[in-house]
Amino acid sequence: MHTEEDCLFCRIVAGTVPSTKVFENSTTYAFKDVHPQAKVHVLVVPKKHYADVHELAESDPAELADIISVAQHIADEEYHGHFRLEFNTGEDAGQSVFHVHAHVLTGEKLEE
Ligand code: IMP
Repeated sequence: MHTEEDCLFCRIVAGTVPSTKVFENSTTYAFKDVHPQAKVHVLVVPKKHYADVHELAESDPAELADIISVAQHIADEEYHGHFRLEFNTGEDAGQSVFHVHAHVLTGEKLEE
């Protein structure tokens, strides 16, 4: 069974692991990625634990919509509303943390 202690992003949401907060509301938390792949690279997560975007979409589609709104908000602040949104899903696709997170990449013109 999942516990907060064994999930890095649950610990970040709880504040027991430090992070650089970009945005927070009652259900969603956004923080800077420690290894940025763009000028602005933010991770947006639901405060509640879901393993991946499919599980989130099935269980709480309103939260998935909120994550997209937060991504838009960050891009509006950082780079005239343009952004790339990525959900790596599964190990073979590069997912390394199994608490769903949207990578928001913006702040500059991105490579194809
Ligand atoms: P994934 O590979 O799609 O699962 O993305 C995980 C992301 O989390 C990677 O881009 C990492 O750089 C990032 N990351 C790992 N640990 C931390 C942390 O403690 N704070 C912020 N970002 C992290």
